[in-house]
Amino acid sequence: MALRFYNTLTQKVEAFAPLHDNVVRMYTCGPTVYNYVHIGNLRTFTFQDILRRWLRARGFELDHVMNITDIEDKIIRHAAAAHQTIYEYTAQYTAAFLEDSATLRLERPEHIVKATDHIQDMVTAIQKLEAGGYTYISDGSVYYRIAKFPEYGKLSHNDFSGIRSGARVDMDEYDKADARDFVLWKAKKEEEPAWQSSLGEGRPGWHIECSAMAMKYLGETLDIHTGGVDLAFPHHENEIAQSEAITGKPFARFWLHAEHLSIDAQKMSKSLGNFHTLRDLLKEGYAPEPIRYLLASVPYRKKLNFTFDGLRAAATSIDRLRNYKLRLETAKFPDGTNTKLEARTQEAHRAFDEALDDDLNTAEALAAVFEYIRDTNSAMDAGEFLAANAIGALEFLRRFDSIFDVLAPSTKEISLSDHEIDGLIAERIAAKKARDFTRADQIRAGLAGQGIILEDTKEGVRWKRQ
Ligand code: AMP
Ligand code: ZN
Repeated sequence: MALRFYNTLTQKVEAFAPLHDNVVRMYTCGPTVYNYVHIGNLRTFTFQDILRRWLRARGFELDHVMNITDIEDKIIRHAAAAHQTIYEYTAQYTAAFLEDSATLRLERPEHIVKATDHIQDMVTAIQKLEAGGYTYISDGSVYYRIAKFPEYGKLSHNDFSGIRSGARVDMDEYDKADARDFVLWKAKKEEEPAWQSSLGEGRPGWHIECSAMAMKYLGETLDIHTGGVDLAFPHHENEIAQSEAITGKPFARFWLHAEHLSIDAQKMSKSLGNFHTLRDLLKEGYAPEPIRYLLASVPYRKKLNFTFDGLRAAATSIDRLRNYKLRLETAKFPDGTNTKLEARTQEAHRAFDEALDDDLNTAEALAAVFEYIRDTNSAMDAGEFLAANAIGALEFLRRFDSIFDVLAPSTKEISLSDHEIDGLIAERIAAKKARDFTRADQIRAGLAGQGIILEDTKEGVRWKRQ
């Protein structure tokens, strides 16, 4: 069966092919750079990376745009608190995001574009909406009149036919199922950064950013639009309302949404404070590959509950894969080809490809890999695996790794500052007090992994570098 994806818009699994030529035009809502991304965000970005790699494995070229939201309510608040301009403030987190993405081996989209570099494109888009009668002005700000767009709700499958016309919101975030006219251009408030434009002095709302940049780089109709599930409403619904009002054409053909990463059955989020950044995990001694593996291993439309046990299990899986590869490369197998095993390799290829074609079923794809490893390891033990079979087996591992990308060990050195070590030790003491010995041991092991030895003495904990 052909490559197919679940499309939030139609609520169906549909066969996928790009509209034009062989090129997939894809847009991804990128991070709001007011802090480090957490591994929940990175789950969504890892899904996008697997999607990119699989589209390419299936012979398509990519034209992929990701935006960086570098102007938004929280950014303005945080930058002001740090006595920095929004540019200074967001530059550090944009750089950190790109670094974290590279650490997790996420391919870079063809275009990474910043909102603040596209203010004029947004103004032009808003002017087109004005000309079409989709906007109104209140207190100097420009709002989108959603009652004018009868298809509003078609992505999130909400019926908004009874909405109150004229109820407005000018926050960038608002509650689910509460459809309101949203702000396109916010009139300048005191102290806030603002741009001069024909709409008056102000700044763009969050939603117009993505419509303007997506259409600028990819044209009026995209093949795929992605993001986390929390973005489907209102953000993506609003993107559709804006873009389709401007062009009269479908904005995106396929909408793919990644489910959340949760922790203790709650969504991992900055506002709940229940998050781990990639940086935290690296400092605790976890390598990037198991983190990537864990994030990729659960199919993107299923919830993934993060645990440290899960992370250790991911590391064990990678060890098995690496040991297997080493065996293939170094063992002396008898000459010849076992044709039955050759057929087994073909079957593994087929199962792997079929799983990923099926809406990126990464769990099934990994199952195909591990079943194959188990079968061929037994064949090696029994002396039935012959020298020429290793070629096909290595070829299969290469295909696996072209998507999952976990076999090469990371060479990145992580060095903890004294301050960071003290912080981890304080956390370990608190964990012990709370009788969370698993966590306490984890911290000790993580530090040991980086050559830092703890000594529990009467005076407290001492540490030294090995
Ligand atoms: P933000 O920086 O908040 O705009 O989020 C960046 C991306 O991460 C968006 O696609 C969100 O939908 C996604 N996201 C946020 N929290 C989570 C989570 N806990 N699990 C998976 N994706 C998330
Ligand atoms: Zn967006």
